[in-house]
This record gives sequence, C-alpha cells and structure tokens, in this order.
Amino acid sequence: MHDNRPGRDPITGFLSRSSGLHAAARAVTEAESTASPLAVLWMDIDRFRQINESFGHAGGDHVIALVAERLRLALSGDSILLRMGSDEFVALIPSAVLQMATEIGAMLLVEIERPLLIDNLLMRPSMSMGIALHEAGEDSLRLLERAERAMLEAKRRGGKRVVVSGDERVTGRQGVHLAREELAVEGDLHRALESGGLSLEYQPLVGVDGRIEAVEALMRCNLPRRRLMPGKFIPVAEKTGLIVRLGEWSLLQGAQFAARLRDEGVATKVAINVSRAQLTSRSFAPALQAALICANVAPALIELEFTESLFLDVSETVQNNLRSVRAAGVGMAIDDFGCGYSSLSTLKDLPASKLKLDRSFIKVLPEDRRAYAVVKAMAMLGRELGMTVIAEGVETAEQQAAVESAAVDAVQGYFHARPMPEEAMLAWLKERTTHEF
Ligand code: C2E
Ligand code: CA
Ligand code: CA
Repeated sequence: MHDNRPGRDPITGFLSRSSGLHAAARAVTEAESTASPLAVLWMDIDRFRQINESFGHAGGDHVIALVAERLRLALSGDSILLRMGSDEFVALIPSAVLQMATEIGAMLLVEIERPLLIDNLLMRPSMSMGIALHEAGEDSLRLLERAERAMLEAKRRGGKRVVVSGDERVTGRQGVHLAREELAVEGDLHRALESGGLSLEYQPLVGVDGRIEAVEALMRCNLPRRRLMPGKFIPVAEKTGLIVRLGEWSLLQGAQFAARLRDEGVATKVAINVSRAQLTSRSFAPALQAALICANVAPALIELEFTESLFLDVSETVQNNLRSVRAAGVGMAIDDFGCGYSSLSTLKDLPASKLKLDRSFIKVLPEDRRAYAVVKAMAMLGRELGMTVIAEGVETAEQQAAVESAAVDAVQGYFHARPMPEEAMLAWLKERTTHEF
C-alpha cells in the first residue's frame, strides 16, 4: 500500500507526525469542550533496529506496514492513528476511560504478537505501550509526552507490556524505585503502623478427620475508609524493608493469640507467614525468641510458613535462622508448594513437617484430571516423607471430595471458613469443640 493523501504517512496510511499533532490538539479541544474522556496510546515496536538489520530497510518497512494494518483492523472507527516516528505509533481514542484504554492496550499487544511471515522467515513482533488519560486543562503536547514517557518505562521494564502514565517508577522513602501506586501503599502502611491499623485474621486448617490442624494468621491493613489486602501491601513492604517490622509484629501477635487459645481451652497451633526479607535478616532469630518469651507460649504451638525457595537459600544468615527455628522447637511448613519452580527431589532435604499444596492445583479440581494426579502424587510423596499435607484454597464440596480422595491430611479454604478476626476465630473454635462432645 502507498498512501498519497496529503498529511498521511505513505507506508501506513496513518496521519503523519505533523498532521497528527494537529489532530491531537483538536481531539483535546473536543474532549475539553464536551467534558468527555480521551486516551492516548503510544506504541513502539520492540527491537525494531534488529528487524531492520536482519531484513533490510525494505523488510523493516514491510513489518511497519503489516503492524499498522493490524492496528487499524483492531481499532474502532473513531480512533485516530498517527505515525510518530520510524516504529512509533499513537492511537487517540475518544471516550475511553482508564479501564477501556488498558483493555484495548492489552488487546493490541496480543494482536501484534501473532506470527508474521516475511521473506520466508517467521517472526513474532512485540511492542511496548504507554497509556495516558487526558486530564482537565492539560494540553495535547503534555498529554502525548506523558504517554511517551509511560512507553519508555514499558521498554525499561523489558518491553512487551503496557504502562499507564502515573505508574512509572518514583523513588520511595528508602531510596527504592516504586511505582506511584506503590508509594501510596507505602504511605498507607506507615500510617497503619503508627495508628494501630494493622491486624491479623485467622483461617483454620481442618483435618479430613475433622480435627483442627492449625489456624493461619493473615495480615490486614485497615485504613479509615478501606482495607488493603496482603497481595497489595506485602510486596511493597518487602521492597522497602518494612516487612521486617511487620513480620516481627505478626510473630508477637500470633504467639499471643496462641497463648490465648490455650488459656481459653482450645489450644491450637498458630501458623505465621515469614517472608524472605525477614529470614535474610540477622534480627529474625532474636525476634522469634522474644515473641515466644513475651507471649509465654510453648514453641510447639507455633508454626512458621516459608516458601520452598527460602529453604534452598544457601546464604549463611538464612541457614542459621532456619537452624534456630528448628532448635527452638518451632514447626515449619512449606507454603505455596508447586507454584514457581518446585522440586520434588529436594523435598526430602527440607526440615519442614508440613507441606501446603498451592491453590492453583486445587482451584481446577475436580475437572482437571492432570492436576488431580499431581495432587495425589504430591500427597503420597509428602506422606512418605513424614509430612502433613494440606490442600490450600478448597472452596466447594466437590473440591473437598477430590482432595480427600487424593488423600491429603487437611484442608484450608473458604469451604470450611474464611479468614476471620481474632474474636470470631476463638468463637468458631469453641463452637466446634463443644459439638465434638
Ligand atoms: P498464603 O500464605 O498462601 O495465604 C493464603 C491466602 O489464600 C490468604 O490470602 C487466604 O485468605 C486465601 N484463601 C484461603 N482460602 C481460600 C479459598 O478457598 N479461596 C481463595 N480464593 N483464597 C483463599 P490473603 O490473606 O489475601 O494473603 C495473601 C498472601 O499474603 C498470603 O498467601 C501470604 O503469602 C501473604 N501474607 C499474609 N499475611 C502475611 C504476613 O503476616 N506475613 C507475610 N510475610 N506474608 C503474609
Ligand atoms: Ca501461608
Ligand atoms: Ca499458601
């Protein structure tokens, strides 16, 4: 195709850079005057120089034309397409709010990655994308610049991805690079630490024989109007090192709850999650000792959950910490087993007495027979190695039946109980023990 219309880029038929800039200014004026949203997607083909070098300039132009064609076909008629540079495109999408813009962005990324046949060679192009949403009073140049900066951040993170303007890295309190949203989370965490907004909820691990195996402590961060879940704040706490303080706090809280359960006549092990940053810190062993002493609780009533990779960490501090956990008589569990790079062969060398099978195997049950076979094999292996095997994330009666027939020892999941505050957990345990008699 060769587009000869004025103001058009001949190869792609998109608006050329200068007429594109005018179109962007008009789109912004239109959005301002109708108070409607406008999204800008700035796209850049990854490793285009390499493409040019391998296929020559004609080949490069061919790729540009094919990619442009895919963009045109994938976008609806009211989008405006610009060619900003050799391998850079911009889409102006009127009326698109953030969610719609990111959905369109993700769709384009997939669309572009379909294999492309050039000179008998098969390639899979990919691109980096930055998205910016028009803000009231903002002119078109500033809007485009934000989209471009977000695209550059997508490149820095390895390409083949979308970054929304505002989520680029910004330096946090501890000098670490955090996205803007993470910075807000960091601030929230500090506030919660200061104002007593942190709490633990507890979720039972129920044996297939009905006995309570343990209760797991799960951290919550409560802010005046909302609650942050650990999926959001634990990664930030890990990056900034704040997890060490949070972890020491949860060790003490968990140990105190174990003491309380014992005093209330429903003695149950309390399982506490430990993250990498804690275990690589020299202050870990003393903090554990301090928690046991302050709470006045037997070590046998505490269990620590680590992911498999932590057990395999050969650094001296980690190994010393693991040894002192064992020496203290505190139990250890392997958390999230089977996700990431788990190795069945190293299982026999780990000093853990409990194996928690990751929810990803359980949530596809009972339909997925392969997952079922894996659960069954892992349950058998764990048992042979003398471990208690737990299925995580059982939500339905069908899943419960499946993991029972795979012969796991105990189950954790919404099917039995959701995580609940301390008082509710205590009441739940009391209720169950009275029913047993
Ligand atoms: P985890 O250790 O694997 O904890 C289990 C997670 O699965 C919890 O999520 C729990 O609420 C959720 N869950 C339990 N049953 C079900 C179910 O049937 N269906 C579904 N969909 N989910 C279920 P939560 O509380 O959001 O915690 C997420 C992760 O955050 C935890 O995963 C753990 O890795 C981390 N975490 C939580 N508290 C702490 C803490 O005090 N310290 C550290 N280092 N990490 C923590
Ligand atoms: Ca856990
Ligand atoms: Ca887990």
